[in-house]
Amino acid sequence: MPETQEALETFRIETRAWLEANCPAEMREPVRDETDACWGGRNFVFKSPAQKQWLDIMAGRGWTVPDWPKQYGGGGLTPEQTKILRQEMATLHCRAPLSSFGIWMLGPALLKFGTEEQKVHYLNQIARGEIRWCQGYSEPGSGSDLVSLATFGEDKGDHWVVNGQKIWTSYADKADWIFCLVRTDKTDKYRGISFLLFDMTTPGVSTKPILLISGSSPFCETFFDNVVVPKDQIVGELNRGWDVAKYLLGHEREMISGGGLGTDMMSIGAQFKDVAADEPVLRAEMANFDVEVMAFRAMSEKFVDEMKAGKNHPAEPNMMKYIGTELNKKRFELIMAAGGSDALEWDSEASGGGVKARSWLRTKGNSIEGGTSEIMLGVVAKRILELPGA
Ligand SMILES: Cc1cc2nc3c(=O)[nH]c(=O)nc-3n(C[C@H](O)[C@H](O)[C@H](O)COP(=O)(O)OP(=O)(O)OC[C@H]3O[C@@H](n4cnc5c(N)ncnc54)[C@H](O)[C@@H]3O)c2cc1C
Repeated sequence: MPETQEALETFRIETRAWLEANCPAEMREPVRDETDACWGGRNFVFKSPAQKQWLDIMAGRGWTVPDWPKQYGGGGLTPEQTKILRQEMATLHCRAPLSSFGIWMLGPALLKFGTEEQKVHYLNQIARGEIRWCQGYSEPGSGSDLVSLATFGEDKGDHWVVNGQKIWTSYADKADWIFCLVRTDKTDKYRGISFLLFDMTTPGVSTKPILLISGSSPFCETFFDNVVVPKDQIVGELNRGWDVAKYLLGHEREMISGGGLGTDMMSIGAQFKDVAADEPVLRAEMANFDVEVMAFRAMSEKFVDEMKAGKNHPAEPNMMKYIGTELNKKRFELIMAAGGSDALEWDSEASGGGVKARSWLRTKGNSIEGGTSEIMLGVVAKRILELPGA
């Protein structure tokens, strides 16, 4: 039954009061970078007691995943209530209690394709931040052309034996479990892939961090050497993992598109008004950027509502991913332009360990991860614009 405006307004007032009373002050500071976020999992080291307290109290209420059903660890909120919760968290600058590939990617796929046992088992653990997941999609030679993947799962009756290699597996060395695409039939390119879940401590799984020019190693090469995976750890039907993979990619692209452009982000013009006052070109670029972000947020809100209602055009996440990630890159170009050479400081105390410069470089990967901008444009050309030859 749809809620009345009055009931929603009461929910808003109660939610605001609860957040004000329960969100620790430290959790109302902006997240500096990926390492400052709460990722959860078996081996996660909390940065502070407040970070753990915030995760526990939000998970206890089901508000790490407010719109998931209660039996799977969610809050059971309606889409309207979920939106209000997000708005109130943004207004009070509350951090997301949990950053999680489980929430952003695997969870939606399990809700759609998982068995009841899988949902109860994995979703509850994801909601409480108990398992940290990584994504085993890309392989050397299979990135944009993902369907050419070669990691093979051999049928051994009651289990699979998996052999092969993945690459660019973000946080594989920190993750507890992997959701992984594996070829289970070599005769059919699309209908020969299965979607498997397995523990990263299974014998035969090893990871090797890839060192980047920045000195950090956010992702790994991941190797599988005779890894035994029980049959009930397949999600969806045998050989139909490509359907699960595509559905998950839609959620991944939606998630990546919004990174850094959230509703709580201050307008860049307001942020740099003093610097831009005497720089007409920079001022105009900032004004243009702020207008584009407003349009992006409106579009994104509409698309997310449609997606949650199952009414979206399947190519909408591709559009959002392209626009969102290109805008995020532009945002950091403007931040660097406004900051001048000081913004390039790498390791100084004043620059907080080069947080801006590092974030600027990180945005470059935004338009590659989850499918490159060229691939997104190709999908839009073919599936939305129906251009000839696309
Ligand atoms: C920060 C980051 C995190 C990542 N995390 C993960 C992860 O956790 N798990 C995971 O599995 N993968 C991850 N990836 C890998 C990512 O998904 C791939 O890099 C991406 O899909 C592109 O594949 P590729 O690198 O093989 O490039 P390629 O497919 O080799 O593409 C090279 C270039 O050719 C262009 N190109 C290719 N085909 C076409 C075409 N048909 N039309 C036009 N242009 C084309 C591409 O746009 C690109 O510019 C991550 C990548 C990054 C940057």
